[in-house]
Amino acid sequence: MNIVLFGPPGAGKGTQSDKIVKDFGLTKISTGDLLRNEIEKGSSLGAKIKSIIDEGNLVSDDIINNLIENILGNTNSYKGIIFDGYPRNLRQAQSLDTLLKKYNQKISCVLSLEVNKNAIIERITSRLICSKCGSIFNKHFNKATKDNHSCDPKFLITRSDDNIKTVENRFETYNKETMPIIKYYINQNILKEIDGMQKIDQIYKEIRQIIDSLDT
Ligand code: AMP
Repeated sequence: MNIVLFGPPGAGKGTQSDKIVKDFGLTKISTGDLLRNEIEKGSSLGAKIKSIIDEGNLVSDDIINNLIENILGNTNSYKGIIFDGYPRNLRQAQSLDTLLKKYNQKISCVLSLEVNKNAIIERITSRLICSKCGSIFNKHFNKATKDNHSCDPKFLITRSDDNIKTVENRFETYNKETMPIIKYYINQNILKEIDGMQKIDQIYKEIRQIIDSLDT
């Protein structure tokens, strides 16, 4: 079972995909996390990637497709993959189909989280990430506590692209480059729309129901 989690920046893709991984044992591939790992390495490629991310633009398809191909090629036994933040344009959607075919796999469904721009800005500008374990929290409505997070609070940071200026551009990029993918998946009859404005647990309840109803 392979699932694509689709939606604008700040729609809750990371939060929901972590829950799916926990309950369904899928392997998560977040291209954003993979790119941030590359930045952490301090390589010259990492520095190039950081400047693109901080502008709110998309990293080149070549870099992304290489990252994905490396992972798919090295994942031999898995229950399936949850793609978070990938594909982000039509070309990536087409290369994902080609790549999955090579491994006799397909996308079981695309879950599209629908959230309006005001909510996105509010969510992203109050988002906190744990730089140690990668957990995602929010200063207002999903606070890190001793019960839901075991790392020291000093590891909670704001991503460098989670500021109002970058968010505006990320949203533009989403509308221009990423939104057209919706039609591609509607045509394949695998798109499921979910109201991403609801509470985290309610969104997840709906996601669970959809995944439970899939046969592959
Ligand atoms: P995310 O963590 O998914 O919000 O991604 C953060 C940033 O990484 C995006 O704003 C893009 O600059 C870059 N990025 C992540 N995934 C992709 C992708 N599939 N294609 C191109 N750029 C990406």
